[in-house]
Amino acid sequence: MSSSSSSLISKTAFLKYDQCPKAFFFYKKHPYLRDPVSKEKQFTFNRGHAVGKLAQQLFPGGIDVSATAKSSRSAFELTQQLLNENANTIYEATFIFNDVLVMVDILHYDGENWMAYEVKSSLKVSDAYIKDACLQYYVLKNSLGKFSDLFLVTLNANYVLDKEINLKQLFKKRSIKLNAEENFEFFGITVSKMNLVLERNMIPDIPIGKQCFSPYSCDFLGTCWKNTEDPKSVFRIGKSDREQLFNLYFSGAETVDKMDMNTDLKPHIKIQAQSILSGQPYFEKKEIKNFLKKINSNYCFMDMEIWSPAIPKYDGTGPFEQIPFLFSICYLNNGGPDFINYLKPIDSDSRFDFLTALLEATKNFESVIIFDKNLEQQVLAKLENMFPEKKSEIEILRGKLVDLSEPIQNFNFFHPKFNGNFSLKAVSEIFGEESDYSGLEITNGIIAMHKYQELQESENIINSEQIKQQLIAYCNIDTLTCMKFLEYLKENTKD
Ligand code: SF4
Repeated sequence: MSSSSSSLISKTAFLKYDQCPKAFFFYKKHPYLRDPVSKEKQFTFNRGHAVGKLAQQLFPGGIDVSATAKSSRSAFELTQQLLNENANTIYEATFIFNDVLVMVDILHYDGENWMAYEVKSSLKVSDAYIKDACLQYYVLKNSLGKFSDLFLVTLNANYVLDKEINLKQLFKKRSIKLNAEENFEFFGITVSKMNLVLERNMIPDIPIGKQCFSPYSCDFLGTCWKNTEDPKSVFRIGKSDREQLFNLYFSGAETVDKMDMNTDLKPHIKIQAQSILSGQPYFEKKEIKNFLKKINSNYCFMDMEIWSPAIPKYDGTGPFEQIPFLFSICYLNNGGPDFINYLKPIDSDSRFDFLTALLEATKNFESVIIFDKNLEQQVLAKLENMFPEKKSEIEILRGKLVDLSEPIQNFNFFHPKFNGNFSLKAVSEIFGEESDYSGLEITNGIIAMHKYQELQESENIINSEQIKQQLIAYCNIDTLTCMKFLEYLKENTKD
């Protein structure tokens, strides 16, 4: 092994090449072009790290190379040293072969053979995971005598917590030996191609395309997608097949003003294109009025936040189970908005208290308006299952639900400020220059979920209190936005 650390090809670099050689080239030669890591991505990394740490306990007593090694090279050297010293379990064991560097989460010697384990904080094994594990297998097979197999370790969807975590049941493993052996040649060939890209030292001429989002959202969208920032870009059209948008884009219709509206376009694409072009919102007044008739005069707005921890925390729950932890009820009181909230303590399950508080808060309203009913319906169905004694009250609440996203989903309403996004946050853009969400610490449900999780680790009362206030503020903005949107629809569909 003679290459310097910077010339080595990591697993990340390999996956980038596999997705798009241009992404690989940027990653190796122009890493400063990478988009900033979003909070959501950072939370996902943190979650993966926590699950990986827990999985190490499947093989306790190992030595963690990453705890002391300061660089890839020193991690490699330390791994070699541990192997020479006959260590039998190594965490983050680091190997280099053919300029490819991999770190395996767990390497274990069972007395006869070495087995490697790659941990994923996921319930499913994706094609991308298999590819990444096959690369590790390729390096290990070429580096380690008596190497037998590499397993992908994922969370078991059927696991249910019963008092204490049972690691052997929480995780399940899948051998990738067959896949890896079948594709063994592929890795050697691909590494040669990757080295050629680097030697050529020219940005590969690859246009934007579906690969930018598959299997992962690329880290260089900010660089390659700069030309699509025009407010009239066809990529501002939402709820459409990406392939169709790329076809439009590459046929010369980069912006909606260049689209031929006489061609066979789907109605919802035409509605959006015309609205973006004119800068005016679209209202199908008759349909919206029919929708508004579903809302009784005595109504409130409701929003829920859910937490789905990878590692189950409460008895009877499994990995990634959706646990409702916060609701906001917003209603008109003396001409202004008023709120009722319930924030479940993280230390106790308390879903019964959550449900009781929700039923109490909504019982006097005839219509309960939500935005995108899917989540609420799922949560209520689960609560009904858990607490059959509340079934009739839950059914009454279900009967009151009105989904305010319906006019948007059915394209009876569209606003050019949606920007290809149909979330409540996009709706809030209608109401002025400054979105109600700007300035908030929490700006979407994923961040809310991870912030709630932070309460679990927080030992600082002031910090915990701040997080609770941030969570409630975010949830209240969701219901307040619904209130504004309803008023807006009423106002704009008046005769
Ligand atoms: S944004 Fe798309 S084209 Fe650009 S590097 Fe990434 S995947 Fe390749």
